Amino acid sequence: MRALFCGVRGSTCAPGGDFVRYGGHTSCVALAHDGTPPTLVLDGGTGLRNLSRHLDGHPFRGTILLGHLHWDHTQGLPFFAAGTHHASDVTVVMPAQGDPEKVLERSFSPPHFPVTPGELEGNWQVTSYEEGDHDVEGFHVVAADIPHKGGRTFGYRVSDGAATIAYLSDHSPVGAGDGPEGLGAYHRTAMDLAAGVDVLIHDAQHTAAEFRSRHQLGHSAMEYAIGLAEAAGARSLVLFHHDPSRTDDEIDTLVATHQGGPVEVIAAAEGLVIDV
Ligand SMILES: [Zn+2]
Ligand SMILES: [Zn+2]
Repeated sequence: MRALFCGVRGSTCAPGGDFVRYGGHTSCVALAHDGTPPTLVLDGGTGLRNLSRHLDGHPFRGTILLGHLHWDHTQGLPFFAAGTHHASDVTVVMPAQGDPEKVLERSFSPPHFPVTPGELEGNWQVTSYEEGDHDVEGFHVVAADIPHKGGRTFGYRVSDGAATIAYLSDHSPVGAGDGPEGLGAYHRTAMDLAAGVDVLIHDAQHTAAEFRSRHQLGHSAMEYAIGLAEAAGARSLVLFHHDPSRTDDEIDTLVATHQGGPVEVIAAAEGLVIDV
């Protein structure tokens, strides 16, 4: 399996010279079977625009799994050139919460935006999942509710039969208890999603020092992500959903600070490719 990081920023875009190496686009990770174009995409933040370049002019035919519906996970959808192609075939999936197309339209229709999902070029379908096991685009996907602020949120575990990743882009583990360091509980759902994965992609919006004053925003401290990766036996951790004010140099320093533990720790960057 190949994971292509198209957008790694949390909350809102971060343009400007201090953010060019890790990138300013919001959450989007594309997955591909070995040697084929990506067909399964995790979240449709503005980073989704980057995916078109990797499809060599071909229309996108696949599925976009939304972990939840916040702006930083959906605003790339109407700007996805390979998806808004006359020959595209795009299925957008969200956590079940009423009529999925109408739910998406609440932020994706006039007067908020000039068009609705139904007016996009190409063949688009909007649907939903309940928690549980799903087979999609040749991947096995486990979807599970995880705590976050402001709406139903799924974490995903994705396997191609040989490699497995977990994706918890927005996770507020204090919603399940304070945990041993006050950074949130290593609760059963997070442990099950991350158990023994090759790559854990996890919310790393805050540092532990910042967390005390920001835990109410619904995200994780990177120290929690490291603790979860270790507790769940993940092989590697990709710090994801960087705070929009976190500069490249600051991310470098934080990653360097967290080297030497039992789990390999890297920071997600726009354009990063991981062959799992
Ligand atoms: Zn987010
Ligand atoms: Zn969110």
